[in-house]
Amino acid sequence: MADTVAMKLCESNGCDKPAALQCPNCIKLKLDPVYFCSQACFSKSWGEHKSRHNVVDPAATYDPFPSFKYTGELRPVYPLSPRRPVPEHIPRPDYASLGRSISEERTSPLHIKVLGKKDIEGMRKVCRLAREVLDEAARALKPGITTDEIDQIVHDACIVRDSYPSPLNYYNFPKSVCTSINEVVCHGIPDRRPLKDGDIINIDVTLYHGGYHGDLNATYTVGENVDEKAKELIKTTRECMEKAIAMVKPGTRYRDLGTVIEKHAKSCGFSVVKTYCGHGIHNLFHCGPTIAHYAKNKTPGIMKEGHCFTIEPMINEGEYQDITWPDQWTAVTKDGKRSAQFEHTMLVTKSGVEILTAPLADSPPTF
Ligand SMILES: [Zn+2]
Ligand SMILES: [Zn+2]
Repeated sequence: MADTVAMKLCESNGCDKPAALQCPNCIKLKLDPVYFCSQACFSKSWGEHKSRHNVVDPAATYDPFPSFKYTGELRPVYPLSPRRPVPEHIPRPDYASLGRSISEERTSPLHIKVLGKKDIEGMRKVCRLAREVLDEAARALKPGITTDEIDQIVHDACIVRDSYPSPLNYYNFPKSVCTSINEVVCHGIPDRRPLKDGDIINIDVTLYHGGYHGDLNATYTVGENVDEKAKELIKTTRECMEKAIAMVKPGTRYRDLGTVIEKHAKSCGFSVVKTYCGHGIHNLFHCGPTIAHYAKNKTPGIMKEGHCFTIEPMINEGEYQDITWPDQWTAVTKDGKRSAQFEHTMLVTKSGVEILTAPLADSPPTF
């Protein structure tokens, strides 16, 4: 049969003209053909169309660390997609090009900034945008979607909000969001693994906008077959965060947050990760104070009006210990059992706390 292109119609939204050309990338990748009437319609559709090219033949994916002794069933699925570009007009933090943050390294972890009026407005704005982006990613969750596709959604959602995705190139982190599945405690790198019915996944989103960072995360169930133990873990983790937030007001010692978190986690049969902490956040992504989530910690500092920081407990189904994959980022439980996390960015007010990344009326539930 000759000239099948002529029998098709243009795929561009709202265009019904006869097709005259095919996407050359789709042909090269041997994907189902997609047709357009003209170069103009092809260009117009490019934003939506291009994600089709991210699919990789499953036979071409591989485990980059085949001799590593994994603690659970999860494996990285490489190759990672190429680094996503950020348009030139979007202001970026210092590490975006350097791969390390000189401004953070110059700041003492013992210093806690008191935010002024302008800083507070900036933090409210970026935290609201970060919440919108997390919600958009959460709505896309379903069995079969890859974490790389979630990364694309988060990246694009940041760009349309004139924001830089803070994780991108932060100490060489290769992607725009952290996606942490099942036994991953935190800092999972989005890759080609499709989500499975029964997984749990934490999505950790941070945006940089107007000179400020806003940071939040939540753990979600995937599909209809997540077991009760995992739901209990997720629920308990959120309660741990909420109980800590309830203590936030001027005069509270930062070290006392860990006491309530660990007490609640333990009472439900779970354990608290010690390796990773919450942090101060404003012009810098990570700075003082340090928020330890475990009991008997000795972190310094007393809350004052104008302090801004995260609380982000990681709670484990089994033992509290974690190890890191050879990618230098992915933290997993040592026993391979599951881990959950929730995070908000908050501001200490005159009499209590303002949760800057609070859910919106239409934010999707975690299960
Ligand atoms: Zn975060
Ligand atoms: Zn954080």
